[in-house]
Amino acid sequence: MSLDELYQELLLDHFKHPRCQGVLINPSAKSALRNPLCGDEVQLALTVKDGKISEIAFAGHGCSISQASASMMSDFLKGKSVAEAQTALASFRSLMKGEEGVDTDSLGDAAALAGVRKFSARIRCALLAWEALDACLAQSDKK
Ligand code: ZN
Repeated sequence: MSLDELYQELLLDHFKHPRCQGVLINPSAKSALRNPLCGDEVQLALTVKDGKISEIAFAGHGCSISQASASMMSDFLKGKSVAEAQTALASFRSLMKGEEGVDTDSLGDAAALAGVRKFSARIRCALLAWEALDACLAQSDKK
């Protein structure tokens, strides 16, 4: 199995069996974003406790890339520190820009989305959940 095929399987697995899907009661922060170009929607909520993301959940619908990206991101960030989440966010943005030397270890399964950068119309799909994360981290910062 090639790396591309492996990544494709991982993406479909997250799309068909999304991790961390649901709604949180009284989260520290929440954000709902849309990608009108593709019709994707992601609602992300998280709770920060002692500098760590103790709970994270998403809901939404749209293409496989947008939903798999939300699942990969949420699954990876659960239990991680806010600093690690910010590092992952920066790495993922670099990955989508096609920058060299991105630390993919800081991304978990989301590193499998590297191939998306070849399809510029789909980059917005992959980034949607991460932009929601950015908004959530900014909100929980202020508390
Ligand atoms: Zn999409």
